[in-house]
Amino acid sequence: MSEPSANTIPAGSVHDRALAAYLGLAIGDALGATVEFMTPREIAYQYRVHDQITGGGWLKLPAGDVTDDTTMSLALGQAMVDAQGWSMPHVAQAWVEWLRQGPVDCGNTCRRGIRRYMGDGSLEGPLREGDGGNGALMRNLPVVLATLHSSAAFERWSIEQAHFTHHHPLSDAATLCLGHMVRDWILAPETASRRMPERAAQLVAQYPAFRFDPYPGRATGYIVDTVQTVLHFVLQEPDFEACVVATVNRGDDADTTGALAGMLAGARSGLQGIPTRWLKALKPQVRQAIEQQVRQLLALPAV
Ligand code: MG
Ligand code: MG
Repeated sequence: MSEPSANTIPAGSVHDRALAAYLGLAIGDALGATVEFMTPREIAYQYRVHDQITGGGWLKLPAGDVTDDTTMSLALGQAMVDAQGWSMPHVAQAWVEWLRQGPVDCGNTCRRGIRRYMGDGSLEGPLREGDGGNGALMRNLPVVLATLHSSAAFERWSIEQAHFTHHHPLSDAATLCLGHMVRDWILAPETASRRMPERAAQLVAQYPAFRFDPYPGRATGYIVDTVQTVLHFVLQEPDFEACVVATVNRGDDADTTGALAGMLAGARSGLQGIPTRWLKALKPQVRQAIEQQVRQLLALPAV
């Protein structure tokens, strides 16, 4: 039997929303990479509005290619597929291989965590004030897709993968909050539009640093700035394209804010909401890897 292609997946199904979240992540990464580390003013001067997947940027990325946000996610997802479930040693080894292959980019905290493991075999770093980057959050989508059957497994696996490189309470809270939002959109879309602002309000009540109304306007790789930007634009812009364009045009860590906005907006809109020109612009190998991995993650045995 041939594999189902994207256009045979029923609109509005779990598979449709899961795939749209993953393709949305990759599209936001590919689009945002062009303007990573630019200011909103620089972007407006150069592009007026940046809304085409053209590659380039400081990484000199080929058009349609993605960065560490997507490739680290794919490595994490593949480790779960290979282990047919959760195995942090499999995940650790997958990231070692990923780093050895010379990824186009790797954040400092991610690199330090992988190197720590290579040195002493430890699967968790100590609690660290400096671990408040967005690296654990940016790569957690495959855990969400592998644990749709169990909220407890989602939370446990998410924290385990996070602490491999980022051991920080704000990173943990953000990783769980945005993951739960994606789960809501995939599993219960009829109530997710009410649940999303409730979850955002709970996060802000627990950690007031995340307050994003009024929007402070910073979009750096610090977890607070990233989450404020993503939640502001996802809640403000119901349309996938408008949401991702507004997000990446804030510049700074635009590939990661774009990836996370694309993930949430994709889970919300399904494949139908994603512009065809962006799907076509994405590197075919990346799109195929995501399509295959989503099928495999959704088919993992329940724990
Ligand atoms: Mg990146
Ligand atoms: Mg980035």
